[in-house]
Amino acid sequence: MKALDELTFDNRFARLGDAFSTHVLPEPLDEPRLVVASDAAMALLDLDPAVAETPVFAELFGGHKLWAEAEPRAMVYSGHQFGSYNPQLGDGRGLLLGEVYNRAGEHWDLHLKGAGQTPYSRMGDGRAVLRSSIREFLASEALHALGIPSSRALCVIGSSTPVWREKQERGAMVLRLAHSHIRFGHFEYFYYTKKPEQQAELAEHVLKLHFPECQEQPEPYLAMFREVVERNAELIAKWQAYGFCHGVMNTDNMSILGITFDFGPFAFLDDFDAHFVCNHSDHEGRYSFSNQVPIGQWNLSALAQALTPFISVDALKETLGLYLPLYQAHYLDLMRRRLGLTTAEDDDQQLVERLLQLMQNSSVDYTLFFRRLGDEPAAHALARLRDDFVDMLGFDAWADAYKARVARNGEYSEAQRRARMHAVNPLYILRNYLAQNAITAAESGDYSEVRRLHEVLSKPFEEQPGMEQYAQRPPDWGKHLEISCSS
Ligand code: AMP
Ligand code: MG
Repeated sequence: MKALDELTFDNRFARLGDAFSTHVLPEPLDEPRLVVASDAAMALLDLDPAVAETPVFAELFGGHKLWAEAEPRAMVYSGHQFGSYNPQLGDGRGLLLGEVYNRAGEHWDLHLKGAGQTPYSRMGDGRAVLRSSIREFLASEALHALGIPSSRALCVIGSSTPVWREKQERGAMVLRLAHSHIRFGHFEYFYYTKKPEQQAELAEHVLKLHFPECQEQPEPYLAMFREVVERNAELIAKWQAYGFCHGVMNTDNMSILGITFDFGPFAFLDDFDAHFVCNHSDHEGRYSFSNQVPIGQWNLSALAQALTPFISVDALKETLGLYLPLYQAHYLDLMRRRLGLTTAEDDDQQLVERLLQLMQNSSVDYTLFFRRLGDEPAAHALARLRDDFVDMLGFDAWADAYKARVARNGEYSEAQRRARMHAVNPLYILRNYLAQNAITAAESGDYSEVRRLHEVLSKPFEEQPGMEQYAQRPPDWGKHLEISCSS
């Protein structure tokens, strides 16, 4: 285990120089204090979890102190927001403090979000509020625990610094970890500003550090793009299978590594609803739950456009064509597993679609349905779940098809079925209302609920005694919470 001053830095992105990022010092928060830390994320840096409770921890991640080897930089990028190109983006309120490598030789970017104004802040104050920092922290660690690739979060530091949104709130910082903070928008920036040399430098940097195996391929950049397509197809398949709605899939929020990145008004589905829009300023539903699939492809084609200096248009198009079939294969594989199926049949896609349509029509809780389906032998579980459906005859027809399908799947014991299904069907997800309860308590200075919720979500598949209240459908007040985008 390392102490805080024993981190080993190697700031590879900072070395690319001033065309890529600007040196900016963090603006400290007043009276910084630890809200919550993730032991699992601490372990990624080989840090002893106990150091999170020391005053120097809150000072470091509240912007008061810096390691001598840190080189805080605000990165420049651009991107397509809601379908339109915005040439002026960049880290407006976050700083890449530096890159650390752990004993296993893994590099981790330390990114401090809410660290004050930068040259890319435009009209913004450079701050993040406690509410949005807690949501990012909980979501990144919860997604990781579900097996969904995500940036990670080391801690949230709260403060007494006033920050104005719709009302006065308090400033906070999240320390985000990722192997890279390079976005689709980084490539777009150098493409649209016509800086071919820097764009080549960026591409080389990403290839060498993040896709080294592609260097061996006959066309390394094409291989790299293919890998980005594959990773994003797999990521979005996981979002869809587990009911995660990102909310702001702008190309500046898309990671080149295919991880969930930049959390805003995200939500996990409570009731299944393909048309769900979690971002209440997304009036056209561009980033609705089911639209995430075609938007993934749209975003990849925006990246492809920015890669035309390196790769032929034909090869880019052909590679983009892989996205949808890859997505569908991953998605179906995950949904089969969620249904307890270990073999594949041609009609499985239809079986899944019919179920989702029934759930949609009856507003059935997406997470609990699958968990309960695995609780008992199929026939018993189905008889119990039937009550949740308005169209009971429709459900019966589906249940018959499912029972027949389970029978054809082959022999396995009920105990095996339960164990297998519970291993892929979480009991606990980050429901908006649970996050809201934790935020309300934290805003009045009580951090115990954030910490407890984080603990529960770190083992989403394991039934935890005494935690039944975290595995319930939302109460009426918590069903359609409007999550403010001003974070
Ligand atoms: P987001 O919607 O959070 O992905 O942010 C879009 C752009 O606005 C990015 O360039 C952010 O850095 C910037 N931004 C968001 N909030 C703030 C803020 N409070 N102060 C300065 N810049 C911000
Ligand atoms: Mg963003």
